[in-house]
Amino acid sequence: AVVLGIESTCDETAAAVVRGGTLVSNVVASSMNEHARYGGVIPEIASRAHAESFVPVVSQALAQADMNISDVDAIAVSAGPGLAGCLAVGVSGAKALAWSAGKPLYGVNHVIGHIAVTQLQFGPFPADTLALIVSGGHTSLLHVEDIAKHVDVVGTTLDDAAGECFDKVARLLGFPYPGGPHIDRHAMAGNPHAIRVPQGLTQGKAGQEHPYDFSFSGVKTAVARWIEGEEAEGRAIPVDDICASLADSVASVLSKKAMKACKQYDSHTLIVGGGFTANSQLRSKLLELGQECGVDVRVPDIRLCTDNGAMVAMLGVNLVEAGVRPSAMNFSIDSAMPMEQIYQYSR
Ligand code: ATP
Ligand code: MG
Ligand code: FE
Repeated sequence: AVVLGIESTCDETAAAVVRGGTLVSNVVASSMNEHARYGGVIPEIASRAHAESFVPVVSQALAQADMNISDVDAIAVSAGPGLAGCLAVGVSGAKALAWSAGKPLYGVNHVIGHIAVTQLQFGPFPADTLALIVSGGHTSLLHVEDIAKHVDVVGTTLDDAAGECFDKVARLLGFPYPGGPHIDRHAMAGNPHAIRVPQGLTQGKAGQEHPYDFSFSGVKTAVARWIEGEEAEGRAIPVDDICASLADSVASVLSKKAMKACKQYDSHTLIVGGGFTANSQLRSKLLELGQECGVDVRVPDIRLCTDNGAMVAMLGVNLVEAGVRPSAMNFSIDSAMPMEQIYQYSR
């Protein structure tokens, strides 16, 4: 099947065409730079950018694929989770396009798209696969029984997402938003064992087991206290060491729990995705542990990890090829779309 995928959950307006398991075109416009001076994504600015970019981005994706809208079998659009105003622009645009061209439309789950996209680089994945999705907004371990039919949550963050935690520490260190990439770069020059950064929930809280859940909200506080202590002693702040210790701690807890889940679910494949998986410490830790545990770690190129239209189009292909009915044309956006919900069903 040929599917046009449209993405507008946060600060990327993106569109792509996928044919079967092949990426035909992929266009991404980002409003990230417009948010930098505010230290985070401003929903109103992001929504406005989507409204400006929607038509040019979708037209370019079709043009690069050398297609007209009549050449696609279906359209898929992220229906959630994400910022309501942003989702509204993409979903309204996709509905208008689908309606006028007489094409079936699927309102899909953005997070499940991060899983689907790995097929473009590594091919189909086996049934009952584990997936680790880490981004600015999500940190989740999922069990993928069948990407078009059934996905379960195995674990999730109880507070902050990993990317959010990096961005908070980055702010503390004076790096501009988004701070994740700065921490990554400084971490390369530092000692990962220089300071103790808590690995949230490694043991599970007493009497309350969270074997596959994460907690990152304590990390920023721990780093902030440590810095205060050093400053009180009049010592210089070893920025590289802080970054290296933070990156090592977060990469370790994510990879260890992912491997443990693979073992419990008897999965020899781990799908990895989401914007945070651009992080080099996480990528190398996952590959290292994967090799030790006999798990095939499928972490795609960074351009496929960050938000894009290909992930949405690929999930659309999975749904079309599974014979799933399109979403009813009056489906709504869902800014808190549950992970178990792969797309907006038709009633
Ligand atoms: P969503 O949560 O909407 O799915 P996403 O998949 O696009 O979003 P982003 O929120 O864009 O993910 O992910 C970017 C996050 O990852 C930011 O918090 C950013 O700081 C962090 N990040 C990006 N590159 C790196 C890196 N190299 N090292 C560490 N963190 C990074
Ligand atoms: Mg983004
Ligand atoms: Fe995302």
